[in-house]
Order: sequence, then structure tokens, then C-alpha cells
Amino acid sequence: MALIVQKYGGTSVANTERIKNVARRIARYHQRGDQLVVVVSAMSGVTDGLIRLAKEITPLPNERELDMLLATGEQQTIALTAMALHALGIPAVSLTGAQAGIVTDGIHTKARIRNITPKAVRELLNAGSVVIVAGFQGETPDGQITTLGRGGSDLTAIALAAALKADLCQIYTDVDGVYTADPRIVPTARKLEEISYDEMLELASLGAKVMQSRSVEFAKKFGVVFEVRSSLNDNPGTIVKEETKSMEGIVVRGVSLDKNQAKVTLVGVPDRPGVAARIFRALADAAINVDMIVQNISHGDGPPTTDLSFTVDKADLAKARHVIEGLQPELGFRQILAHENIGKLSIVGVGMKSHSGVAARMFEVLAREGINIDMISTSEIKISVVIDLARAEHAMRAVHAAFLG
Ligand code: ADP
Ligand code: ASP
Ligand code: MG
Repeated sequence: MALIVQKYGGTSVANTERIKNVARRIARYHQRGDQLVVVVSAMSGVTDGLIRLAKEITPLPNERELDMLLATGEQQTIALTAMALHALGIPAVSLTGAQAGIVTDGIHTKARIRNITPKAVRELLNAGSVVIVAGFQGETPDGQITTLGRGGSDLTAIALAAALKADLCQIYTDVDGVYTADPRIVPTARKLEEISYDEMLELASLGAKVMQSRSVEFAKKFGVVFEVRSSLNDNPGTIVKEETKSMEGIVVRGVSLDKNQAKVTLVGVPDRPGVAARIFRALADAAINVDMIVQNISHGDGPPTTDLSFTVDKADLAKARHVIEGLQPELGFRQILAHENIGKLSIVGVGMKSHSGVAARMFEVLAREGINIDMISTSEIKISVVIDLARAEHAMRAVHAAFLG
């Protein structure tokens, strides 16, 4: 008998047929004698639909109210999944994030889990029930509903697996596992048998939405080994775990493309100490994640000014603009430009630590395709470039072909 945490994403519970299918899989494990905690997402498209409704009311919805709204998506699926299990004669109880003991900080729409007290979950398991938990949501210590950032049901599952010391954590989705690239964009992508936390974390942060990056961070911190696999078949998936020696032999493990970034350029920013600190502090205080930053050399005849570009999530663009506009009177830059037509293409692999010439090779591939590089950033195990969105998928296929065949 094992304690298993399973997570089913939006497409796996997209309609009542799929929910019944999920229930049959859960029933198989239950009948084997396993204890099951099942985390479900909202039905596919529901969270997006709710965000759309909010934006029809106002472009910058109050974030507490947005969380109140978004949390309803998962609440539908937990109840429907429990009903589907009842129909199969399996005892099951649904719990909201709060009822499952998931306590977060108060950063609405991107809350971080502070701690989990899964008392109710344990009691229900001991009573023989399958426990269905709403993904993506939690509650602050003073009872406010929060959500954990897009894709946050992955985090709910991994955090519950850590808190319950589960024997197995399975992330069920609509692909067979983690591939060398998004198989929807790169048809020649291959499924990986295993991948290290660090590589998965980079791929996820750089656009491979198969796992939420925060959930991988959490898994690494608490040593939760998990498997990404399909809810539509029984193929073995991809194991995500600590790096092993043999993983270093491969230079590039995967390629990812982030189409959800926007570039903000501040034109004519005074070039004096403290200005960058002021700008990025204000963005940080508004919980806006800034990724790449590029500052040009100073220009102009009078007091030196410079142009400063950085990237943020498209979802944060309106908020970032608002924050920056607020600094205008104080800093006196000339103009704010926003570009949404960018793509961030990255290659990732722990083997890069011990191989040289990888960046040069990537840039040569892009040059051969006539693709201009707008921004570059690197770390020990990844190289990212910002390029024109219109050519980004083509670039991804070319780079994948060069490194991964
Ligand atoms: P879920 O609703 O189950 O959470 P997501 O849509 O969030 O599923 O993530 C699964 C999707 O991630 C796949 O359908 C695939 O298109 C995409 N994806 C992006 N990069 C990769 C990758 N490297 N390997 C597998 N899938 C990927
Ligand atoms: N329903 C949420 C989203 O669409 C959480 C999740 O699916 O993991 O982002
Ligand atoms: Mg997801």
C-alpha cells in the first residue's frame, strides 16, 4: 500500500467524459489498496475565461477579487471528480486549498505557500476516502483566498506530496512526459526518460509550461521525485529528480520558447547612481518579475541619459507600465515603449557547464536562418535570446535540429 499524490491538469478534466476517465484511473489505484490524494485543475479554458470576464469589467482588476474569482474554477472540478468517484462506488471527499490546510502569504495571484497542515487530508485518508484537493489555491493566515500563479496546481501537488511524505507523486497531463521541446511546435521532439531538477526548472521558467517553475523549485528544495505522464494512456513518463553524473554527458537537454514575455524600453533615462535601483525596486514592490535587463551606453549632449530595456510577463505589462508611469515625474525619462511581439528562445542542459562553444553554435544557427538577436542572457546551464515573435517557432525548430537532431 502506497500513499500517492496525483495531479490532473486542465485538459485531463476538460469535460465530464474526461473526468469520468480520470475517476476510472483513480479507482484502479484505490482498488489496489493505495491511499490517494488527487489534485485537480480547473477544466481547460475555465481560468482563462474567468480572467477574460474580469478584464471586461476593468483592465486592472483588484487582485484580491481576482483570486476570489479564479479559485472558483478548481472548485467546480473537485466536486465533479468526487461525484465521478461516488458513481464508481469509491468513497471520495473534495477539499478546497484552505480545507486541505494550504497556508500562503498574501501576494494575491502569485501567493507562496508558507506551510501545509494536512490534518483533514490525513483523517480522510485514514477513514478510507480518496481526497480530492483543489489545485492552485490556498488561504492566508487571516482567511483570505489566494492563488499560486498560473499553472499552480502543479505546486499544490508537489507541496502536498512533500507535506504528506508521499511515496509517489504523479503529474498527469496531455503529453506522455517532458520532451526535448514542446512537441506541438517541434514535431521531432523526443520524450526524456529523466531530467534533473535544475534542467526542468530552467525549461519551465523559460516557457515549457508542462510544469510550473515554482513547483519544480519546491520539489528540488524538498527532494520530491515526481513523474510527468499522460492521463490518456499508460506509457511510462519522465522522472524529474536530482542530477546524476550520467546527465552531464548531454550538452543540451531541451529547447524552450517563451511567447508570453513583453519588452519594455525606457527612453532617455537619466544615467546617474540610484535610478536603476529606484525603477526595479518599484517593480519588485508591485510583485512584478523582471527577467532580462539591458542598459545601453549613455548618449546625449546635456546630462547623460541612457535607454533601459527589460522583459516582464505579458500578463504584468499593464501593471508594469502603471508603476513606471508613476515614476515619470521623479525620474524624468522621455518615453516608455512596450513590445509584445517578442519570443525568448532558450537552450538548457547541465552538460553546458563542461562544454564550450555552445552559445556560438546557437548564434550561428540563428544567423544562418537570418534571425536577428535582440537580447541575450546566459547562466551556467542555459542560453536565452530574445528574437522576433513571428520567426520564433521556426528558430526553435532550427535550434532543436542543430542540437538534438
Ligand atoms: P496541464 O493542463 O496538464 O497542466 P499544460 O497545458 O499546463 O498541462 O502543460 C502541458 C503542455 O505543455 C503540453 O500540451 C505541451 O504542449 C506543453 N509543453 C511545452 N514544453 C513542453 C515540453 N518540453 N515537453 C512536454 N510538453 C511541453
Ligand atoms: N487553473 C489554473 C491555471 O489555468 C491552475 C492550473 O491549471 O494549474 O493556471
Ligand atoms: Mg499546467
